[in-house]
Amino acid sequence: MEKEKIFRELERIVGKDDVMTSEMELQLYGYDASLIRGRPDWIVIPESTEEISQIVKVAYKNGIPLIARGSGTSLSGGPVPSKGGIIILTTRMNRILEIDIENQRVIVEPGAITLDIKTAVAKLGYLYQPDPASEKATTIGGNLAENSGGPLCFKYGVTSNHVLGAEIVLADGRIIHVGGKSLDNPGLDLIGLITGSEGTLAIATKIILRIMPKNEAVKTLLAIFNTVDDGANTVSGIVKAGMVPATLEMLDNVAIKAVEAFYKIGLPTDAAAMLLIELDGLQDGLGRLADHVVEICKLNHVREVSLAKTAAERDQLWVARKGAFGATGRLRPNYLVNDGTVPRTKLPETLRRVGEIGHKYNIEIANVFHAGDGNLHPLILFDERDKDELARVHKAAFEIMQLCVEMGGTITGEHGVGVEKLEGLKLQFCSADITALQNVKQAFDPDDILNPGKLIPGKSAACGGREIVYAEH
Ligand SMILES: Cc1cc2nc3c(=O)[nH]c(=O)nc-3n(C[C@H](O)[C@H](O)[C@H](O)COP(=O)(O)OP(=O)(O)OC[C@H]3O[C@@H](n4cnc5c(N)ncnc54)[C@H](O)[C@@H]3O)c2cc1C
Repeated sequence: MEKEKIFRELERIVGKDDVMTSEMELQLYGYDASLIRGRPDWIVIPESTEEISQIVKVAYKNGIPLIARGSGTSLSGGPVPSKGGIIILTTRMNRILEIDIENQRVIVEPGAITLDIKTAVAKLGYLYQPDPASEKATTIGGNLAENSGGPLCFKYGVTSNHVLGAEIVLADGRIIHVGGKSLDNPGLDLIGLITGSEGTLAIATKIILRIMPKNEAVKTLLAIFNTVDDGANTVSGIVKAGMVPATLEMLDNVAIKAVEAFYKIGLPTDAAAMLLIELDGLQDGLGRLADHVVEICKLNHVREVSLAKTAAERDQLWVARKGAFGATGRLRPNYLVNDGTVPRTKLPETLRRVGEIGHKYNIEIANVFHAGDGNLHPLILFDERDKDELARVHKAAFEIMQLCVEMGGTITGEHGVGVEKLEGLKLQFCSADITALQNVKQAFDPDDILNPGKLIPGKSAACGGREIVYAEH
């Protein structure tokens, strides 16, 4: 069916004003926060599950790629229409449908902004725990699809630990429900499969989340170190002592300098590392735990360690941490955020070698990371217009992925595979592993219309035109 007819069909489903096809709009929705670029053919803004189902049926009948898109903050090319097609923008489906305090559940539409959900339940004394640093902008649908994490992941886990069920639209437009409000649903864990599937298996139209009562007390500490090793050893020491802080976040010198230049909160710009440690739980005993943390910091040669005395001081530290990417991004026209995990004990060696990769390719790398989870975020700074520098950035990013796998880790902790890390999959998976992933995709989406060319290498997923060869073991 030619383009004009598809346009009319989409217009019939969502209304005239909610199909976008102008050149400017097509360009605007061709990117995310990564370096990947694409161009959709249509952008539609549905308001209900029924409309999404009808749009999917049009795409299914005509073999057109479909890409769900929330706020477009993905760092791996997830919502980029690299094969054209229809973008389903979920931003208008942003309602919180139900807050069930007694059962500690919330039901939301996929376009609800993460921070709005958190704020709504916080007013009632509850927490939705996952906290991607981008939470002010991201949608819960994007969080589900990327299985997003955040600074609280050490204690509270990632999105998949808080998503209990969903209403989803399948590739042929049928609407089904997976998981549910109650625990222990029979059968296969389909909600587990959908969470983290990057929009390649289904489109989520309603999401059931777990919420928790607010903690009675919180203590936030800032520790400053003269070496990264001392900071990393402190993290290991705290975990070894049997403590489970909510947060163990680290910034290296380049990131500290960037944050201080922007937020001006008095961070020492000559420090090699800072560690943000947050303890939460019952009031009783929390002070003793904080004292113990201070002792461990001292054993590891901390330069200074201080406790946030007021809520305002604590907020300031958090604003600085959550704004670290943005602050670092001001240093050069572009940055590429790498995202791998390594076993926590391998952090010092991994960070040293990330520094060596930076030297080798003559590029500056800042490190902001969830130290408790061994989840690194090397931020590679560059100028996209300098093609030689760009080529070095890509090589360095690939070597960092290789390094993480060599250290016994993974190629991505929380930002997804998207397009950016398709080639990196071969570092972690053999051909039999990939076949298993492809079989799942085949079962859900045999015609490969849902976000094709992302996450799961398929018939259509050679990387940048190159065949990816997987090991046979
Ligand atoms: C400054 C900055 C900081 C960040 N910090 C973090 C962080 O701390 N932790 C973290 O995990 N990530 C972080 N990210 C990455 C990003 O914010 C997350 O991946 C986020 O979950 C994406 O949400 P979104 O609404 O922008 O989704 P989009 O970018 O629009 O889409 C992401 C993926 O989700 C799919 N998708 C969207 N909606 C649906 C749906 N309804 N059904 C099925 N699939 C869907 C899309 O097709 C795409 O594959 C950060 C990004 C930036 C720019």
